[in-house]
Amino acid sequence: MPVSGKLFIGAEQVASARTFEAVNATSGESMQPPFSAAGDAEVERACALAWAAFQPFRELEPDARARFLETIADRILALGDELLERGHAETGLPIARLTGERGRTMGQLRLFADELRKGGWLGLRVDPALPDRKPLPRSDLRQRKVPLGPVVVFGASNFPLAFSVAGGDTAAALAAGCPVIVKGHSAHPGTSDLVAQAIVAAVKACGLPPGVFSLLNGNSRALGAALVAHPRVKAVGFTGSRAGGLALMKIASERPEPIPVYAEMSSINPVFLLPAALAGRAEKLGQDFVSSLTLGVGQFCTNPGLALAIESADLERFIAAAGAALGQVAPGVMLTAGIHAAYEKGVRDLLDHDKVTLLARGAESQGKNCGRGALFSVRARDLLQHADVMNEVFGASSVIVRCANEAEMLEVAEHLEGQLTATLHLSERDEALATRLLPIVERKAGRLIANGWPTGVEVAHAMVHGGPYPATSDGRSTSVGTLAIERFLRPVCYQDFPDALLPHALRSDVVQSLPHRFDGVYREGRAKNDR
Ligand code: NAP
Repeated sequence: MPVSGKLFIGAEQVASARTFEAVNATSGESMQPPFSAAGDAEVERACALAWAAFQPFRELEPDARARFLETIADRILALGDELLERGHAETGLPIARLTGERGRTMGQLRLFADELRKGGWLGLRVDPALPDRKPLPRSDLRQRKVPLGPVVVFGASNFPLAFSVAGGDTAAALAAGCPVIVKGHSAHPGTSDLVAQAIVAAVKACGLPPGVFSLLNGNSRALGAALVAHPRVKAVGFTGSRAGGLALMKIASERPEPIPVYAEMSSINPVFLLPAALAGRAEKLGQDFVSSLTLGVGQFCTNPGLALAIESADLERFIAAAGAALGQVAPGVMLTAGIHAAYEKGVRDLLDHDKVTLLARGAESQGKNCGRGALFSVRARDLLQHADVMNEVFGASSVIVRCANEAEMLEVAEHLEGQLTATLHLSERDEALATRLLPIVERKAGRLIANGWPTGVEVAHAMVHGGPYPATSDGRSTSVGTLAIERFLRPVCYQDFPDALLPHALRSDVVQSLPHRFDGVYREGRAKNDR
């Protein structure tokens, strides 16, 4: 299927007068075809279509929405190697990584399909009427969750498949019953184009209203701003920089009707190396730390950008092993020239910092846009005075924090910003310190890891990929796993409605067959034919 270079506005493929070019991440050369860039007219049309599709889409039976998600997954697979090759050219990510990412993308669409069929996401609650209650009777109260409305999803640069056009945010929003308009990331418009073709084909195959999905490519800040400001848009999903996320949150909060922005922005994912763990396995920890740090040229939101340990000979063994391992890692191509330039600046700022010491660099490379790993150290006392050392450097750069004692480690933990993850490497003899650290890091991070590494996020029911600001704009939710659907739903209560007017799922004979809380007590729900 050739890359179209068009905008996908509902069922139509539309060309615009203004175009922009895709760039090969490795060579820096322009790629064909040129891409139409969306402007105000296209934003207006996509939003109008999304709004028109909202009512029929939200009323669709969960099973029909589940089939739609599964059809998208099938159509993405049917794109074949062309999708992987285009993705590789535009992002520099290896084919093997993109193959895995495609599997993850299809897996999360299918996981949401399963979730829709189970019914728990509807959040059904019934508090039956108590007409004889004294001093006042109680009404019949029933609750369910309803979709918010059209959602704008910003494709991420670092996950061209799993966090882009058909990625986690899109899957969660569609599962909830929200039409989706994707603002494609300007770094991989051809990859986005192919995935959009798969989704549009699925919309047609499932007989859905065309406005359920649109893709607007473009490379101007005005496009994203116009989408977030549009009155028909009711929520936003975003993965990218802190500056970008904050700009969009500001637009959303200043609208006549403010809307939620679920932005995933900035995290340095601290790793605490506790003394007994270091004593027992310093070399292995050093090597494994570098594997996590350099995975994907460090372009993961869960990249371990800070490691904390108490000064000791064991810490020096860790540093020696990590430095040696890093020296063996050849720099990889970064996603874009801009991201490479931002990485180089971040590393330069640390090199120039008078409280920071360079410990090791990755192997050299003559390649264009290649990110060479960097490992630094800083004393905890200095870090506490210079919070800028904790700024996210997006890429394979990390800072080791030398703590004088346990108290200093706890003090640094207290000074951390919100994080996606916090990792503890510990042995049995570290439990006393871990017990003091845990209540602190629990306040700071969405996922706590024992004796593992933060990179690699399982798509599952119990996963939390979120955390307090600036990791995300709203630490009460997750962007990975089935709980992500909650971001695009809100509860509605029906008081004393006759059965005939209640939503189908809340009717007395139907609600029994679905998971629900009855008078506060959870009930599994029974299949209709069991009753
Ligand atoms: P970005 O610059 O924030 O861009 C992400 C998306 O938001 C793009 O579609 C971009 O449009 C749009 N956008 C950004 N600022 C905007 C604004 N003020 N108004 C309207 N739209 C706006 O992120 P990026 O391109 O992915 O990477 C840049 C930096 O982001 C990296 O160097 C890294 O620091 C950070 N990053 C962090 C994570 C993470 O998970 N923590 C992931 C990826 C990137 P265009 O396509 O037109 O640029």
